[in-house]
Amino acid sequence: MPEGQVSHRNAITLQAALAGRDLVRVHVPDPRLAPQRIDERLSGDSVSSAEARGKHHLLRFDSGRTLHSHLLMSGRWVVRAGHEPPWTGGLTLALFTGRHVAALYQCREVALIEPGQQLPRWVTTTGPDLIPADDPAGVTAARLARVAPTREVGEVLMDQRVVSGIGNVYKSETCFLAGVDPWRAVGSLTESEAADLGRVAAELLREGVRQRGGIRTYAPPGGRAFGRGTKWVYGRRGKPCRRCGTGIRSRGQGDANRTTYWCPACQA
Ligand SMILES: [Zn+2]
Repeated sequence: MPEGQVSHRNAITLQAALAGRDLVRVHVPDPRLAPQRIDERLSGDSVSSAEARGKHHLLRFDSGRTLHSHLLMSGRWVVRAGHEPPWTGGLTLALFTGRHVAALYQCREVALIEPGQQLPRWVTTTGPDLIPADDPAGVTAARLARVAPTREVGEVLMDQRVVSGIGNVYKSETCFLAGVDPWRAVGSLTESEAADLGRVAAELLREGVRQRGGIRTYAPPGGRAFGRGTKWVYGRRGKPCRRCGTGIRSRGQGDANRTTYWCPACQA
């Protein structure tokens, strides 16, 4: 499931391949998008820029239009040199520049917005994005101080209206590395603990932008290369904590019941 690091990685790739280029073709095979007539409306347009905002993607065009997409759990942007999308199964839409194809797969959340029209509300209400933030520690402490104090830390970190970019994996990894119990009430955090959560999350997310493939937050000792998907606590229920040997625990958290992993000793 893509978190903020994926949207930022995609924005860099989309910007490099598409910005300043004319669209020579727009293909929208997903019938759910037919009412938006995206192919007609983007015909002859040029890409001006690609931007990530939290987990949202915003592709801007010279006409002033904006193509918004959100990958939710299963969407994927794939950019390739050439004239055909890398594969066609699950293709939502594809943009062709003559040199590159930007193909969007398995994506239900796509909207082409006219100039002057408001972006979707879940974009405009997105909280500060920790990846480009100048002061992710300070901004996180300030935002956490404003939420209902009884809410749980793990649930609040996933709330994209508070701060944006953190998904389910980074939630658990951030709490572990900041030494904070994800089940604590936000109101019980000291300012320095709240700031630590923001600092650690931004470090992990920024490292994630540089990585390829799955999220890796833990490198085994001895200088071995990162294993695929190597993490401190996420996905490690019942396994010994890499720091203290205590069994890692997991439980669903928040209204969405997303699984949180933690070490009951290191995060006491
Ligand atoms: Zn531990």
